[in-house]
Amino acid sequence: MTEKEQKRRENDRRANRVILWRTLLLMAVFGVAVFFPLLWKLWTIQIVNHDFYEGKAVGQATRNYTVSADKGGIYDANGNPLAMSATVENVILSPRDIVELQEEYAEKVAKAKEGKGEYPDYHEPSNEWIASNLSAILDISEEKVLEHLSYTSKQYREVKTKIEKDVADQVRQFIDENHIGKGLYLLPDTKRYYPKSSLASHIIGFVNNDNVGAYGIEAMYNDQLSGEAGYMLTGKNGKGTEMLTRYENYIKARNGYDLHLTVDASIQAMLEAKLVEGIEKYDVRYGGFAIAMDPKTGAILGMASYPDYDLNDPRAIADAAVAEKLAQMETTATSEEYLAAKQQAQWDQWRSKALNDTYEPGSTFKAMVVAAALEEGVVNANSTFTCNGSYTVADATIKCHAWKTGGHGTQTLAEAVENSCNPAFIQIGMKLGAETFYDYLEAYGILESTGIDVPGEGTSQVWPRKDFTGMYGITSLATASFGQRFNVTPIQLITGISAVINGGHLLEPYVVESIVDSEGEDVYRHQVTEVRQVISESTSEHVRTILEGVVDGGTGKNAYEAGYRIGGKTGTSETLETGRNIVSFVGFAPANDPKVVVLLAYDGPEKANGEYTADGVYVSGGNMAAPEAGALIADILDYMGIAKQYTPEELSGADTTVPWVTGHYMDYAQSVLKQNNLTYRVVGEGDIITGQIPAGGATIPGGSQVLLYMGEEQVPTEQVEVPDLEGMSPEDAKAALNDLGLYLRATGAVEYYVSTNVGTNQSIKAGTMVDLGTVVEVRFVDESIKEYTGLE
Ligand SMILES: [Zn+2]
Repeated sequence: MTEKEQKRRENDRRANRVILWRTLLLMAVFGVAVFFPLLWKLWTIQIVNHDFYEGKAVGQATRNYTVSADKGGIYDANGNPLAMSATVENVILSPRDIVELQEEYAEKVAKAKEGKGEYPDYHEPSNEWIASNLSAILDISEEKVLEHLSYTSKQYREVKTKIEKDVADQVRQFIDENHIGKGLYLLPDTKRYYPKSSLASHIIGFVNNDNVGAYGIEAMYNDQLSGEAGYMLTGKNGKGTEMLTRYENYIKARNGYDLHLTVDASIQAMLEAKLVEGIEKYDVRYGGFAIAMDPKTGAILGMASYPDYDLNDPRAIADAAVAEKLAQMETTATSEEYLAAKQQAQWDQWRSKALNDTYEPGSTFKAMVVAAALEEGVVNANSTFTCNGSYTVADATIKCHAWKTGGHGTQTLAEAVENSCNPAFIQIGMKLGAETFYDYLEAYGILESTGIDVPGEGTSQVWPRKDFTGMYGITSLATASFGQRFNVTPIQLITGISAVINGGHLLEPYVVESIVDSEGEDVYRHQVTEVRQVISESTSEHVRTILEGVVDGGTGKNAYEAGYRIGGKTGTSETLETGRNIVSFVGFAPANDPKVVVLLAYDGPEKANGEYTADGVYVSGGNMAAPEAGALIADILDYMGIAKQYTPEELSGADTTVPWVTGHYMDYAQSVLKQNNLTYRVVGEGDIITGQIPAGGATIPGGSQVLLYMGEEQVPTEQVEVPDLEGMSPEDAKAALNDLGLYLRATGAVEYYVSTNVGTNQSIKAGTMVDLGTVVEVRFVDESIKEYTGLE
């Protein structure tokens, strides 16, 4: 190796170190743990293997072009692109070659003056000429271009990166017209696009300027997505002219692999919409999270966190209120304060509350406790528990939310779960005992990470075993029995709940279903990974039935949806440091054979009046998360095409299709309407039905009344105004609509405690003019559900 060569390599290495440290600095901002594998890769490519790559060079004076590999795409479960790369170009100046071009031009002019040749037929490639043209084409300053040109010993100065084809074509034209291809050229590069903008932003993550994954699975799967760059090495003669034919050496690029996720863009969009809906409705201050999982495989169907951000512009603050606050700071605060605040806001929107953060699970955890107690045989379906409104453990008095009314009295096991009764659960926890209870914390995976293939999983905060089982651990056991005073990640909670309902199998959650090469061949395909069996199939089945009871008439009744057999558990917990509540619901359906499990939570609903919102809704998981999650689960099951299962009582109110009876005799109409679970009312006189409301083919709730027009009587064509149904009971709403010739489809907690339930949402706004026979859907919610969260 010559001295010159050695010096050049040292320079290259130094340059690579600068890039590495710059990347390191950037990564320190993101959290080093997440990026360690990435860092390692960078280190090996840029420093350790540098000589290997360099060693491929042939001859002394070589020019080394990188041939970038096409980066793989990220697709959802149905093949919809979530991340893709498009080819763009980088504009490179070689100031050293520009100097040579200028010298050649001057030589030609000098010779022409002596009559020894022609004057050049193109413009002099002066620095000013190049700067003014590039400035105009690339929309950069002339000074910047002149600065690049001043590095006359350099061959590689990036003037502008990632330009689109139309701009690149203008640069190409300038190069051709001015014969400066030696000193100004374009190199292909790629740019990452996220066609669905903010959708699943916390899962997908984004890449940095060099197309290296910086966050989310873009970072975790960077190696697989990136492929391997190729190299083109060309020999050069003394003047720097390329000698392609002699020394060309080409190492072909290997294109990156495509990732196919378990995430379904439609389900993800449903989760995100429900998050935003509840956040607006309940004036939620700190966002929320929602996860949908296939309980039989651990596949994540969707995982949403709010606030979120636009993957195409991850550094822009997506939350309008936060962005406005920052804009004000920009003029009022010091630049250090402003930058710190902006960085914090970026962190906040990049964090996945579903994965990176922990929270107190509250009463949702009771599902795991009751399953453990049944599995250990310390309780059974016939066990009873007495609640007087509070329970004293050591010197702490723990209240039940029914304490004002003297408690829940004597309850069966199922009733204790339906009531979410804290004293009953303390008794269940005591029966399990601290050691066994702790064994189950471990078995459910509460003390370890789930192993999900998205980076940055948070760490639970749980008492060490010796403190929990020691002589002072009794209060910890009591509070843990109803899910308080310890923190888990949402992904841990839903994974544990999946084990409770799927037959007892703790599975490793995952988002990457397969990795596919550019020929379409599988490089990797996920195998369902069982960590351990926690409870038996029969215990799991028993708990599913109990949890269906919670939604059928217990504290989860606002999640009720006729025909969907939803089971679940509400949760209301307090963050000790801030005193704010997290309201949540974990639910699954169908209860007999779960196809989906959903965890939905809102962090910090605004309390305007003590424990109530400004609208008078008691702040609890049962009142806030349950209705949203119930509707969400129903939407997901509809989307998955899972048939509804009605109980006999539900069947009487289930939707039915109105048959065509116009043109028929009354006998026929009577019989087919009855078959379709519909009643009728006759308008006018005659033998034959001349019209009907609603028309045949319409879908209306079973038991509804069809209007039959006879003889001369015509079907009225005028429209009617939809009444305001808010605050009405289901019976009143039905009567109000039927009087006008409209129909009610009642959803939500409509079957139970009917008199207290009120309409909260109607599908068609009051005041809208609609045709007779139109169905108005109204959601009924019991807003009185309370859960007591804390210790006295
Ligand atoms: Zn109670």
